[in-house]
Amino acid sequence: MVQYSRFMNINGSTTIVGVFGSPITHTASPAMHNAAFKALKMNWVYLAFPVEPQNLREALLGARDMGLTGINLTVPHKLLALSIMDEVGEEARRFGAVNTVLIENGKLRGFNTDGYGIAKAIKAEFNFTFKGKRVLVLGAGGAGRAIAVQCALDGATQVFVANRTPSKIDPIAKEIATTKTAFRALALNTDDIARVINDVDLLINATSVGLCEGESLGLDAKLFSPRLFVYDTVYQPAETELLRMAAAGGAKTANGLSMLLHQGAKAFEIWTKHKAPMAVMRRALNTAVYGAKT
Ligand code: NAP
Repeated sequence: MVQYSRFMNINGSTTIVGVFGSPITHTASPAMHNAAFKALKMNWVYLAFPVEPQNLREALLGARDMGLTGINLTVPHKLLALSIMDEVGEEARRFGAVNTVLIENGKLRGFNTDGYGIAKAIKAEFNFTFKGKRVLVLGAGGAGRAIAVQCALDGATQVFVANRTPSKIDPIAKEIATTKTAFRALALNTDDIARVINDVDLLINATSVGLCEGESLGLDAKLFSPRLFVYDTVYQPAETELLRMAAAGGAKTANGLSMLLHQGAKAFEIWTKHKAPMAVMRRALNTAVYGAKT
């Protein structure tokens, strides 16, 4: 259960940023950003807004018209948001997805910090970069696209993407074809993944399966071995079924809290033009998500 910390006084000149998603109550982003604003004595506040996909355009235009400064987008908005932006940054264009909106001079400017976030997280958790690695990404939504393309941009040798809906992999294949990385699409099932798992160094779950306790990707435990690194972008619960199975098979594992920290820090810098206070944000996240006073 995420706990919200008490933060600054809100008054008539408080700058408002926030996150749009559905579901949204699980988000730890408010705790992380509000702790950063408090530490830097900034009169800003970060709020979570439950927004359904059919209302995304109105919600973004409303945020602009009400003078908000920035919006993060999470499940299921990142792909749809692209067409609503007035301007789109290079990463957002390549990933075909927006996770950070800067509202400036009456314009919606779309960015994507997920690729940056996953690269930083993998380095922090496993001490390697994507260069020369063979990576299997599960999921082809906003996060899956950003992660798969970032792997290729960072020099991965091979990227596999497995998704429940095969057609959603096509834009990723097209984008990765512009790089030197080999690419292959897979079905999201044990048989297809078993055929390539010995050629994979790192498996990243970028589906939303695991967000709700008890959800299962339906994969077999025999896929996981000590030579494999497994990263789940889900961070709550701290150990998803995937991570439990992977750890039982001897794989090195980490959850998505580190990605949340790094993608959030980058968004913070885009909005505020201040360097993100990483230690403060990390501590706030750990406390909010796990109750740990680290
Ligand atoms: P999205 O655009 O809505 O995509 C959802 C993905 O999950 C799609 O690939 C979808 O497959 C798949 N999926 C959903 N339900 C499924 C099911 N029952 N079985 C198999 N696949 C299923 O969402 P997103 O923005 O990419 O986010 C995906 C996940 O990444 C979420 O859990 C989110 O919290 C996490 N994330 C974490 C961070 C972080 O900082 N830690 C950052 C970004 C995202 P279809 O294409 O078949 O629908």
